[in-house]
Amino acid sequence: MKQKEIYIDPSLNLETQRMVEKYFAIKTVVGIEGFVYSEGEFLKRYKNSYMMNDLRTASFYAIYQVDHCENCRQSYELLINSRSQLSNYIQASHKICNTCLCYQASTENFLGYRMK
Ligand SMILES: [Zn+2]
Repeated sequence: MKQKEIYIDPSLNLETQRMVEKYFAIKTVVGIEGFVYSEGEFLKRYKNSYMMNDLRTASFYAIYQVDHCENCRQSYELLINSRSQLSNYIQASHKICNTCLCYQASTENFLGYRMK
């Protein structure tokens, strides 16, 4: 799973755009991709800033490329809005693409049950 690109609403203030870039900035150490700034460092720097406030309504995300769907084996892209969403995804036991997810959901509906 690799970060491909970061999307930030271009109408946002430049400082806020830079802050989002820093939030998602990654470095690769011994082949493992990680964030440049820790969540703590980041908060310390931007807590109570107007940029942080801007983010509440801003549109931004990082696009991640996932090597393969566990169901159809195709690679796919994933939009990530926050680090917690990313870590939840990394820890998820079953990683499948949206196409398979939709198919699975409709099959479950058809069969009359849902996985909790
Ligand atoms: Zn799939």
